[in-house]
Amino acid sequence: MIQDLHSHTYYSFCGKDAPEAVAEAAIAGGIDLLGFTDHNYGIGFQRIEMFFLPTDAFAGKDYGRCLQRYFDHINLIREKYADKIRILRGIELNTLPNTNHALPDNCDISYYDYCIIENLDWEGSITGGDLFGYAKKLRCYAGVAHTDLFAYAQRIGVDPLDYFKRMADENIFWEMNVNYDSTHNFHQHQYVLDFFMDPAKQEIVRKSGVKVSVGFDGHKVEDYLPARITAYCKALTEMGIPMPFEL
Ligand SMILES: [Zn+2]
Ligand SMILES: [Zn+2]
Repeated sequence: MIQDLHSHTYYSFCGKDAPEAVAEAAIAGGIDLLGFTDHNYGIGFQRIEMFFLPTDAFAGKDYGRCLQRYFDHINLIREKYADKIRILRGIELNTLPNTNHALPDNCDISYYDYCIIENLDWEGSITGGDLFGYAKKLRCYAGVAHTDLFAYAQRIGVDPLDYFKRMADENIFWEMNVNYDSTHNFHQHQYVLDFFMDPAKQEIVRKSGVKVSVGFDGHKVEDYLPARITAYCKALTEMGIPMPFEL
């Protein structure tokens, strides 16, 4: 199954297109399963001006309702295109130590299909580097994005195989981001390229049972390279590494 579990729309301050346009680009590109994962702060603050208000002026008042409305909108898109593509309602969680970036503690995302967590390995991440504790609190199916988990496990003194096994046990997946994103000037992460070149790393991941997803992290439809998603999904299947949401 060809799945792209990472995409942005105009709900992210950095995203350009309406959800319809993103869904249609995925359909045209032969994607079977598309996950929308707008940035939590883009969804929660609605408008970029609100994001820059002093924290107490907004005080997270409508954040929870904004999360619900986004979910409802994506749900309509899911229904609209149901005969052409399977759409999931996801969210990307920033964990930078800045209250305007991170998901407020009192927000419920347990009804989302999944979330992807970023900045796990950053200095001061609100996860405290504790992926498992943070993911448990979210009560939502979770993946890790934008993180070299081989390097991270080594840095915290854990054998990567053990780390991936624990992720598999706690049902947390790892995203291989294969984007070309002119908005954030990101190209593919080096650790992703390394992983697909390195049979020893692939063997560790395969043995651990952890699931691996592919995400384009698109911010503009004009940048989208669905053939790249297809190629990487096929490569994972050939490696015998399961992806999330397989039927
Ligand atoms: Zn972005
Ligand atoms: Zn993203």
